[in-house]
Amino acid sequence: MEIERILDIMEKEAMRRNAPVYALKKKTGDPFRVLVAGILSTRTRDEQTVAVAERLFERADNFSEIRKMRIEDLEQLLRGVGFYRNKARILKEIAEILDGKEIPSTMEELLKLPGVGRKVANIVLSEAFGEKAIAVDTHVHRISNRLGIVSTKTPEETEKELKRKIPKRYWRRINRAFVGYGQTVCKPVNPLCNECRLALYCRYYLENRKI
Ligand code: SF4
Repeated sequence: MEIERILDIMEKEAMRRNAPVYALKKKTGDPFRVLVAGILSTRTRDEQTVAVAERLFERADNFSEIRKMRIEDLEQLLRGVGFYRNKARILKEIAEILDGKEIPSTMEELLKLPGVGRKVANIVLSEAFGEKAIAVDTHVHRISNRLGIVSTKTPEETEKELKRKIPKRYWRRINRAFVGYGQTVCKPVNPLCNECRLALYCRYYLENRKI
């Protein structure tokens, strides 16, 4: 099946089922918010990320404001996301570096920031700066392999393979479509294959269905 058709189906279905990733998108948008939400989202359910990001952005809308906050207050605001103490420390460290400066807009510069790996950097490049990038999280990695688009062991390999196989004009759509689909249909455990319109094109389904 063509990637465009796959993305259309995933986006439509994820929106119909109110995938949390779309709520998160509404709360972000500018580079500061995209970067912070990306950091908060690691190892955290999107519903929690949305709630905590909303609470934080009411108090701080740039790194200068985060820099002025007491670490204890920041920790309180971040309660609810995984590893909130670590994330508070990371945000304070980034605030020291970026106070009064623009959010970096290249992969190289973003990766120099504490706590920022390829996934978060790709989200910032794609969502905040409109770059053609593929942010590979667990959903993108899992579904790409289940569908049989790639056969990879790590998100890094998946990013490389997806970039090799999928035309650049689709890259920016991949993260949100796959994440939304992973939250609502192609879940990590017990995927809803019987409700999935991609089933007949899915390697996982074809290999595991009962005959
Ligand atoms: S058929 Fe099942 S495993 Fe394959 S994409 Fe659909 S939900 Fe995921």
